[in-house]
Amino acid sequence: MLNITENKFANYPQQPHGGKLVDKVLTGQERDDELVRAKQLPSIMVDLEAVITLEMIATGVLSPNEGFMNEDDYKSVLEKGRLTDGTVWPVPLSFAPTGNRNSEIIKSLSVGDEVTLSNEINEPVAILKIEDIFAYDKDYRAAHLFGTTDRNHPGVDAIYRRMGNVALGGKIRLLNRVDWGPFEKLRLEPKDTWHEFYEVKKFRSTAGFITGANPLHRGHEYIHKNALEEIDGLLLQPLVEMAKREYTRHEFRMLSYRAVLDTYYPKGRSILAPLRVTYIFAGPRETVLHALIMKNYGCTHALIGRDHAGIGDYYDKYASHSIFDQFKPEELGIEVRLFHEVFYCTRCDTPATAQSCPHDEKYRINISGTGIREMLRHGIMPPKEIVRRNPQELPFKASNRKGSMNSRTPFHQSVKRLKACFRSTSIKQGLVA
Ligand SMILES: [Zn+2]
Repeated sequence: MLNITENKFANYPQQPHGGKLVDKVLTGQERDDELVRAKQLPSIMVDLEAVITLEMIATGVLSPNEGFMNEDDYKSVLEKGRLTDGTVWPVPLSFAPTGNRNSEIIKSLSVGDEVTLSNEINEPVAILKIEDIFAYDKDYRAAHLFGTTDRNHPGVDAIYRRMGNVALGGKIRLLNRVDWGPFEKLRLEPKDTWHEFYEVKKFRSTAGFITGANPLHRGHEYIHKNALEEIDGLLLQPLVEMAKREYTRHEFRMLSYRAVLDTYYPKGRSILAPLRVTYIFAGPRETVLHALIMKNYGCTHALIGRDHAGIGDYYDKYASHSIFDQFKPEELGIEVRLFHEVFYCTRCDTPATAQSCPHDEKYRINISGTGIREMLRHGIMPPKEIVRRNPQELPFKASNRKGSMNSRTPFHQSVKRLKACFRSTSIKQGLVA
């Protein structure tokens, strides 16, 4: 583990965003003392998503942020994608608790006060030193952050569902970390990865890749191997969200990633670590956030796929790419590699992109993560052109099949949905069936 009070960063090929890796995790005697004091302070109850954000701030994942934003930074981030000092930061970190009890407590607070943030079972998680109290305008936030106030957008809906009318800004210190359940042993904090990359493995460069809830597929592999031709290390971070129900159990997803890495990736150069983030992040700005998160984990390069953050139909097809045009490379401080959509070309007989394959669209099989999940749910093995053969049996075994979930979906509807997942018209006979 990296002792972040030592200034080792000068020797590394990367620096944390804003120049300093934030460490707000209290330990030892200091923590014991503050735990006692926390019980005497007024307390605000926060949900799991806020708890996760607190932990990300405290462990430096969101450096240079040391807490929740005051109004000036909050507005600057929404309007310009930057903190007031000019540092690139794409999404606001704001704290506007909901609930009558919390509202009553907030009314009694003033700037300069400290307040304990407690989880849903009333354990103290962090202490917030209040620097700012301001009215929280949800429409303003939704319109600036997502470009829409349509509540069908999950990010917009989360604002109205989760946020109150008054926001508190200020630095935090973490008292207790949340248990990551099945991922506890696999988790890595930035202080661990910097040490691993640049002290243990002596990498000269590391590429980060953040991926959603889908099994690792050949499209991901194409991007990773392209990077591994010239970059020493790969940090693969599957997003895990325990509160959200997935069709494939998380533990098996991680085992399945591990199996693919062990079998098809160069030994010692691929590091797997789950990443927990909150739902408040969405849209093209989320892609920029992910690049900065990778930077704070020590990555020199950010690998960004086409539909990086699962953005869907709200934005242009390449919105998660074009947003990077707003920033100069030196402002981001991480080399961003944007990849076109990866498909399987049946004439090239290999995964490819429009950059590398000259053939007509009719020869292409769309590699869709959602499609793969749908196939697994319906008890069908995805073709080997889409997902590696042996390791995929792990997510396959772990998937909750349609038939076993009290589903009344008739078989012909299942087939129809599956066909929609893979749009190609000239798939080799028997490949999908
Ligand atoms: Zn081709």
